[in-house]
Amino acid sequence: MKRNTIQRSLTLEAVKNLMDHPTADEVYAKVHSDHPNISRGTIYRNLNQLAEDGKIAARETPGVATHFDHIVLEHYHTRCVKCGKIFDVDMDVIPDLLNKIKNTHGFAFSGYDIVFKGTCKECQKDEGNHS
Ligand SMILES: [Zn+2]
Ligand SMILES: [Zn+2]
Repeated sequence: MKRNTIQRSLTLEAVKNLMDHPTADEVYAKVHSDHPNISRGTIYRNLNQLAEDGKIAARETPGVATHFDHIVLEHYHTRCVKCGKIFDVDMDVIPDLLNKIKNTHGFAFSGYDIVFKGTCKECQKDEGNHS
């Protein structure tokens, strides 16, 4: 395998192994711990390439760093307001959502990000400990 190909598959593996929507920094930390010679720039470049190729999805969430998702099929997310982690929401996607939009300021819509917010299980536990 070519060096580039190896770095690419290591990056993809890390996104899959980290499961819950890691940031680029978290992916870098994971790959770097096993392969200290791989640079941050290489990981970032590979993440962007993998996202462009549709192997992973880059999730842009207002207020937090971009997260990478190994599930590329459409699904919705929820963000914990305490720790900033992103979780998958267990619900069916709303069909034809874009087609339901009426003409708005002549906008040509290209997509949407649906992110719910709340407090994750772990952070709820922490809250309990302080009371
Ligand atoms: Zn949390
Ligand atoms: Zn997801």
